[in-house]
Amino acid sequence: MSKDTILIVDDERFFCNLLQNILQDLYQIVIAKNGKEAIELLTKHDIALILLDIVMPDLNGYEICKTIKQTELYRKTPIIFLTVKNETEDEIKGFNLGAVDYIIKPISPPVVKARVGTQIALSKANKKLQQHSLELEQLVAHRTEELTREITEKQKVYEKLHYLANYDQLTQLPNRNLFNERLAYVYKLAKRNNSSFSLLLIDLDRFKHVNDSLGHHIGDLLLEQVGQRLSTCLRGVDTVARIGGDEFTVTLTELHKKEDAAIVAEKIIKELSHPFEIHGQLIHIGCSIGISSYPNDGENLHAMLKNADMAMYEVKEKGKNAYAFFSSDMTEHANQRMELEKDLYSALLNNELYLNYQPIINLQDETICGVEALLRWSHPKHGQVSPDKIISIAEESDLILKVGKWVLTTACKQISSWHEQGFSDLHIAINMSTRQFEEKADSVTLLKKLIQQNQLPEHIIQLEITENLMLEDSKLILNGLSELKNLGISLSVDDFGTGYSSLSYLRRFPIDTLKIDQSFIRDSNQGSGEDTLVKAILAMGQSLNMKVIAEGVETKEQLMFLQAHGCNYAQGYYFSKPVSANEIEILLNQQGNIFL
Ligand code: C2E
Ligand code: MG
Ligand code: MG
Repeated sequence: MSKDTILIVDDERFFCNLLQNILQDLYQIVIAKNGKEAIELLTKHDIALILLDIVMPDLNGYEICKTIKQTELYRKTPIIFLTVKNETEDEIKGFNLGAVDYIIKPISPPVVKARVGTQIALSKANKKLQQHSLELEQLVAHRTEELTREITEKQKVYEKLHYLANYDQLTQLPNRNLFNERLAYVYKLAKRNNSSFSLLLIDLDRFKHVNDSLGHHIGDLLLEQVGQRLSTCLRGVDTVARIGGDEFTVTLTELHKKEDAAIVAEKIIKELSHPFEIHGQLIHIGCSIGISSYPNDGENLHAMLKNADMAMYEVKEKGKNAYAFFSSDMTEHANQRMELEKDLYSALLNNELYLNYQPIINLQDETICGVEALLRWSHPKHGQVSPDKIISIAEESDLILKVGKWVLTTACKQISSWHEQGFSDLHIAINMSTRQFEEKADSVTLLKKLIQQNQLPEHIIQLEITENLMLEDSKLILNGLSELKNLGISLSVDDFGTGYSSLSYLRRFPIDTLKIDQSFIRDSNQGSGEDTLVKAILAMGQSLNMKVIAEGVETKEQLMFLQAHGCNYAQGYYFSKPVSANEIEILLNQQGNIFL
């Protein structure tokens, strides 16, 4: 181990030599005669201790000590003063300047060695202590940094978990969880302040079809866009949430009166009725909104939700794309519908369903060229149930597939029987629910089987689809329709003009016939807007090489108008109401002289 170096500062040579002799065995010694030399040596050597004489000619020991203590690098180097004096006042002065000890001249070698040794050991111990505390400080700083990082990371994980638990990943809107929480809060607040609020339950129309036909990916993108549009319709204080599949809710607070909720509902309906563009495709949907309001429509949260749901179902049933406020009659109505759905199951088994047929007239020779099969239900308790109602109830479950199959089977059997009776040109029009084009319905296979079983020429079957089916514009539906078309079955668009179909849809789908909706015929007296519309549809049909049937013809004037503009076929009370199969046979047998 190398020796520690001691700097001796004294103008008296004798003392320097003496001290050197005493200490040189244990330490390396460097000597300075004055302050200037002392500072120079300090810069050159790593000095462990300074022995500093107080009385010197130029700078005295105190001044040298002051200079050394002001220099950061040597501030901590221990200084022992050498003095001949033994005065307490001087010692205090020295200690105040930073000296660690005094050695009084004449010196005693053991005292010098002991004091020097002690101070060097003390200084080393101090240095070590400082080093330790520095290391400790660094360690603490490092650990604090680590802990801060850990806490930040944990906080982030917590925030993420909180987000996942409360927000819908697709739309980034609050999910059912957060919605329930917020609704509970709004409810409590309204109760306490005697104020009111409204709950809007929004269900997308036709979303299921988009999902089934265009795929879940497109469905997801659509929901995302719906979420964005909904957010833009509302004020900051309103909460919009996605609570499931295609169901959204809006909570409206601070409303002056509950009717104000209608303004928001209208805004939402308008906003969602504009087509959505996804991957270059235009998708039309709509929405049905049920509204319940506090305090009238629910003694608790659950009741409010249930009532909004009921109001929403009422809208769906009445034709969708609208809103309704909950009313107490709806509970009764909903119960009736549930009852009716149950009854419809047994109706299928108990032969309560039957078909009526309405003649379709060829307007060139005014003969019956076909019939449309129309569903009837004679309910044992409620009597006749309208087909619109039967279909809408059945469409809520897979019951529609059973009902649809029953209609197809019965109608095919009937037309086969008429063919056997000799009315071999008669065709039959059968209404199809959109849901009969879902994959699981497998309508193509069923029709193939029915055609074969009943030995029917395919072209006499005409399936009536709605414009909405074409809007789905999916490969599945297009393929299904093309397959039917390839079989030789013909396709017509029912209630044409009431939906959203455009020319491009008509060209893309293998359609043979357009059935102009009866609302246009009803008002088609000369000069009305409808009159122009009917003429336009007729012209369009001709240019697309499609036949046109006019529905709901009730007067001679309407018939003449249609004939004058080249309509191909007509149907309506003017010729005959929908009647039983037997009555059709009578009409067919009178063929030729009934309508003139
Ligand atoms: P749709 O297919 O458009 O049938 C025409 C509706 O208009 C029939 O009502 C018919 O009775 C009525 N109608 C015919 N001529 C006239 C007329 O001159 N004036 C008036 N005011 N009405 C006339 P219906 O039988 O009540 O059927 C209503 C709807 O129910 C049908 O409309 C069709 O969409 C649906 N539907 C009926 N049967 C079936 C079925 O077997 N399957 C499916 N999916 N839907 C069916
Ligand atoms: Mg029809
Ligand atoms: Mg129709």
